[in-house]
Amino acid sequence: MKKLKIKYCKNCVTPNTRPDIDFDNFGICSACNSSVQKKKIINWKKRFKDLKKILNKHKKLSKNKSYDCIVPVSGGKDSIYQTYILKKKFKMNPLAITWRPLSRTFRGEENLLALKKIGVDHIDFTPNPKIINQITKKSFFKFGDTSYIDHLCIFNIIPNFAIKLGIPLVVWGENWYLEYGGKKFSNNSKLTVQLSKQNHILKKFPSEKWISKNIKKRDISSFKSPSVKELKKIKYEPIFLGYFINWDIKRNRKISVKNGFKPREMGPIMGLYNESDLDCTNIPIHHYFKWLKFGFNRVTDNCSNEIRKGRMSRKKAIKLVSKLDGMKPPKEYIKAFCNQIRISNSKFWKVADKFRNKNIWKKKSLNKWYIENWLGGKKVIDNFGYTKISRKEKIFLMDLSTKN
Ligand SMILES: [Zn+2]
Repeated sequence: MKKLKIKYCKNCVTPNTRPDIDFDNFGICSACNSSVQKKKIINWKKRFKDLKKILNKHKKLSKNKSYDCIVPVSGGKDSIYQTYILKKKFKMNPLAITWRPLSRTFRGEENLLALKKIGVDHIDFTPNPKIINQITKKSFFKFGDTSYIDHLCIFNIIPNFAIKLGIPLVVWGENWYLEYGGKKFSNNSKLTVQLSKQNHILKKFPSEKWISKNIKKRDISSFKSPSVKELKKIKYEPIFLGYFINWDIKRNRKISVKNGFKPREMGPIMGLYNESDLDCTNIPIHHYFKWLKFGFNRVTDNCSNEIRKGRMSRKKAIKLVSKLDGMKPPKEYIKAFCNQIRISNSKFWKVADKFRNKNIWKKKSLNKWYIENWLGGKKVIDNFGYTKISRKEKIFLMDLSTKN
């Protein structure tokens, strides 16, 4: 890896270490430039009309006899918002499909009940946990990522179901390139299979590469790379709702809460929003590795979003980042993950140390790590605490391990 001097956007607090981010000549990041576009340049009325056309086309195609679209649902506020808009506002008949992570929280399970209130059919799909755990373990060692398998499954299971059920329209949520930066794809209206393959989150490592003595081709059939030929045959149309409707986390939250979605009572598990990262115990660990690999975490993401929405000053953001961004995930979540893949706590931290990006992180003395040129201050040592969880949350932690 080349030597890297960490630099920050002059408008928000996003660093240049963020994957897919671009900076212009004035030192402004592409997410900030996109947010100006969202406010001033994009014609949302026209895009809304375009969305109506697409939805009507698929309504006609299904002839009101079956599902007219698939909506991928995690149980988070955004996916509940998506389902609500499709069913109630556009009178569609969506089929909600969820990839069920083994590490789903009780709150994640509870929040899926919002679908009951909206009133849609729902598939809560769990691939073979023995296979999932094998890949989770291997990918943790290989990529330092606890959620690689979750993302691999989400991006592949949905188009595979679209093919199997013959439903061409899939309505995804935000275009994350538009929301978080990535000039090249911020104007894409579709989440094609080619686009998801390019996402750094899938590590350019498709499902087929996991086939081995213990993992057969048929074991990965639900999350294998979808066949391009089959997708063409059904005229697959995977749109980003966030391309057509101006995306706003706070509005999505409001609508989801109205439908029974419950945020976390004890404040955010990571970052600033207590409605985020609730549904799975492994996702906060995944985010924590961003801190190690890129020197920023959810507080940076969320503060940057608040600045762009005009709800926070950069000064306030810097204060929050320096106070909170290096918080570790709950100890109990790490323990549950170690148990899931059958490794010790010390092995976990060895892997974490391996993935700490030494171009950003410097060592003061024994285990006293700091980020050089960090926004939060000069030579701040990485001694943040762990997020605390309630007794109730602890009770619901399950044994996720499998014997192979
Ligand atoms: Zn910015």
